[in-house]
Amino acid sequence: MSVNYLRRLLLLLGVYSLPCPASEDRRSVSVPENAKPGTEVLSLLGIEKAELPCVIVEGDPYRRFYLSTNCTIVVGRALDWSVQSEYLLKIRVGQFKYPSHRVVSIHVHVKNVPGYPPVYNDMCEIPTRALGDSDEFLLSLSISAQVETTVGDVLFAERTFSRPLDHWNMDNPTFVINMDNNCQLHIALEVRGLTDTAVAAELSLAKHHDQDTFKVSCYAESNHTSELFIELYHDDDDDKDKLHHLKQYVPQVMAKLKKARLIYLVSFAFPTKTATRYKCDFPSLRNPVRFRKHRDSIGAIKNVEAAAVVLAPIGCPPSRYGFLCDKSCICENGARCHGFNGACKCTHGWQGVACDIPKAGVSATTTPSDPADIYISTNVTIHCKTHHLNVTTLTLRLPNGSEIVSNVTTQLDQTVSNIESEDKGPYICQVLDTHGNVFNVTIVLDIAKCPPNRKGDLCDETCDCLHGAPCDWQAGCVCPPGWTGTRCQTTCPDGTHGERCTKKCCCQNGASCTPSDGMCTCKAGWYGSDCTVPCPRYRYGLKCQETCTCKNNATCDNVDGSCTCAVPWKGTDCGELHASSQQGAVQQANGWKLLVEILVPLASVIVLVVCVATILYKKRLLCGVAAGADGETEALLELQQVEAGLTQTVQPGWLSRWETTSRHLSLGHLVGMGMFGHVIQAKLKTPAGEITVAAKAVRRKDTQCYRNFYREAAILVAIHEDQNHENLRSNIIQLLGLVNETSQKYILMEYASKGNLLLLLRQARRQNGTIFLPYNLRYAVHISRALQELQRLALTHCDVAARNVLITADDVAKLADFGLARDVYATVQYVTGHKRERAKRENLDDEVFPLNWMSLESLETGEYTCQSDVWSFGVLLWEIATLGREPRYDGNNNPSCLQLARTLRRGVRLRRPPECSGEMYDVMSSCWQEQPSERPDPDVLEKRLLQVRNTMIPCLSIERETTV
Ligand code: AMP
Repeated sequence: MSVNYLRRLLLLLGVYSLPCPASEDRRSVSVPENAKPGTEVLSLLGIEKAELPCVIVEGDPYRRFYLSTNCTIVVGRALDWSVQSEYLLKIRVGQFKYPSHRVVSIHVHVKNVPGYPPVYNDMCEIPTRALGDSDEFLLSLSISAQVETTVGDVLFAERTFSRPLDHWNMDNPTFVINMDNNCQLHIALEVRGLTDTAVAAELSLAKHHDQDTFKVSCYAESNHTSELFIELYHDDDDDKDKLHHLKQYVPQVMAKLKKARLIYLVSFAFPTKTATRYKCDFPSLRNPVRFRKHRDSIGAIKNVEAAAVVLAPIGCPPSRYGFLCDKSCICENGARCHGFNGACKCTHGWQGVACDIPKAGVSATTTPSDPADIYISTNVTIHCKTHHLNVTTLTLRLPNGSEIVSNVTTQLDQTVSNIESEDKGPYICQVLDTHGNVFNVTIVLDIAKCPPNRKGDLCDETCDCLHGAPCDWQAGCVCPPGWTGTRCQTTCPDGTHGERCTKKCCCQNGASCTPSDGMCTCKAGWYGSDCTVPCPRYRYGLKCQETCTCKNNATCDNVDGSCTCAVPWKGTDCGELHASSQQGAVQQANGWKLLVEILVPLASVIVLVVCVATILYKKRLLCGVAAGADGETEALLELQQVEAGLTQTVQPGWLSRWETTSRHLSLGHLVGMGMFGHVIQAKLKTPAGEITVAAKAVRRKDTQCYRNFYREAAILVAIHEDQNHENLRSNIIQLLGLVNETSQKYILMEYASKGNLLLLLRQARRQNGTIFLPYNLRYAVHISRALQELQRLALTHCDVAARNVLITADDVAKLADFGLARDVYATVQYVTGHKRERAKRENLDDEVFPLNWMSLESLETGEYTCQSDVWSFGVLLWEIATLGREPRYDGNNNPSCLQLARTLRRGVRLRRPPECSGEMYDVMSSCWQEQPSERPDPDVLEKRLLQVRNTMIPCLSIERETTV
């Protein structure tokens, strides 16, 4: 059985299953009005001897159908239920000349399809684009934004979409577009790809508190009623109303973007004639939103200061339509095709979806056709034209009641010369056809008072408007926004903009304002939509693109980058010492002079030696000599990498900004020894006098120690340079300066005279054995505040433990030892895989890892986040509760990384110490939730710890001030 035969059989079955019972000569069939040309409607095979020739002899004057060679009725041209809903086709089967031929009647019902045909909406008509223009969108969309990144850069981003991007898969589009009857466009856009999804997920967190969804609202500058919205929908939003809202705007969304989890809905009015500029309110971001800068670098947006969208009509080339201009128009007989939905606007005498069905009637037009060109004293011709009619009489009735009659003509043209205002009014064209039917149409002539470009009561003044302004006979030139004057020859006065210059400019700090739309062009040192935002710290100049070079904690001017030095510094970059140090400086200068005099003759020798040494070193011939310097050299070379890794956190030039000289330092005794550094008590000369500091130096001169040294320095600088950081209130050890000389390298910190918390806890245990948990809890509260600060800065400490908490003379706990700390963005949390890999990377032995403080995910994947710091904080609470015991799981003293991860996966956790209340144990256990997201945030921990402490001693409270 051939496929063809099967197909015919199926069509036949279709006929037999029709609701209308078929008589011998009359059959019924229905077809939807949107059936495409080529759609088979009914096969006559089996009804009649199909091998005989068959032809439609009646019932289809406009050739909507044809018969294929095997006698099947096929849709030939677009159908339109509103024009003709039924066809009674008479089909002759067999040769007319043979008596055996017969005529079969087929009743074709055209079914109405809701939403079809598309409506031609004049309100959002769009121009047709010239052929050969390379744009491929119906509209062009430009987006611009000014954003501040977490590292204090200001980015001016701008992008115009006027063609599909290369990576868009147009066969499988990720968006659905719908336009309502008010020319409002709604685009549902699926969020795809890892980066976009991550951004969308973070944006959804950035929503305003009073909004259900993330929403950006934009307003047209020229016309405040026109709005543009961008909203974000999440498929697991509990609120079903929101999805309903989305479906209401884009009904096809669920069918077409079935699997989409995140959808942006963009709604705006279809731009028709000119570009519309929208100014957007961007919700403030709760967390930085990461974005991909280059292939492998990631940035994070802290704030969106200004955002704007410009929508401009482009139009499709002739005979094309659709958002991508990828669809072919079907309009005929001079009809205009709508750029958005392809609907046809028929010329007189035509109707139907494609304007290819004759429409009997009469039309009335004028020459000139534009009413603006019809003014007193013009000659106007009125054309009455009949369409597809056999005319008996054609009459034109004038406003004064007189009639002009013409017999048996299809067109009547009547010229009214030197038109007067009395000639205003309705002109009625009426036709009587040969069947006695009457058709009429009315055109109303509205006569302008003055000729084009003329104004005044006597029309004796000339407008000569500039900048495309139209001329109104009474008002004169009607200026476009931004222009004023009798001929629109001058721009709006300073401080004003818009139509008739009635709007006030909001631009601040000397910014100029674009007269047409009020857009601000900021002066150096400022940015934002109104230029009210000064450049972030360490940036200055036009668009904040210059980097400040001020040293020694000087303030940098946002406009010209000049430095205001802190005492005792001076010089353009505050790198020199002031007055009291002058003498020393002079001596130093003389010393330098002398040194230079000695060194110059030696220079050539030195250069030679250095060159040879370098070559030998590179060839590994100078191992013995290099051994000592090796670590430092490598670490210095790595410094660049460390800086690159911390680009999200630390500003360029950080080392020099905090640098001080060892000459101001006098070293004292050793106060402690850490994994990578030793700490010495020292005295530092400052303008305010001598202060005691802790000077941290590398423990060994190897790469690992130097790397940790520089990382700790950079992280501390990043924390201290953050504008929200307050030294006096912070629970992070205070940085006082850096010494980075060849032979001496120190991180100078405030001196915490009570030493580290672990020693303090153990001392307490040894001395009296009693545990006064409520008092020690204050330290936990302080450290929860330090974690809040780190979370805000997107930094992880990676080694929160009692040994890294220092207690100051005022009994304030401060988090210290940032040698392992990281910028969560730079490392994207996944530092390395396994403990061993990490140990290998960092040249560490297995034993040095604080396994028992590490979170489950850090053990398994090397992932470090603010939540993994919270896990370690839970262990710190346990240390406090046990007065500094060594945390151990299941009695296993020395588990391997894998063993410990397995133990934790089984749900084993540190046991409740006997001295610890259930409430307190609940707090620490909450930090050890398997899922990082289920662990409490540091601010919640602070509150809960204060509650625990207050229930222990109701009258005690730890105010923020106690951290001072
Ligand atoms: P770290 O290498 O940071 O772990 O420091 C090692 C030890 O030096 C600490 O355990 C403290 O006992 C001591 N130490 C570190 N920094 C300071 C400081 N700023 N003030 C007082 N002692 C400190």
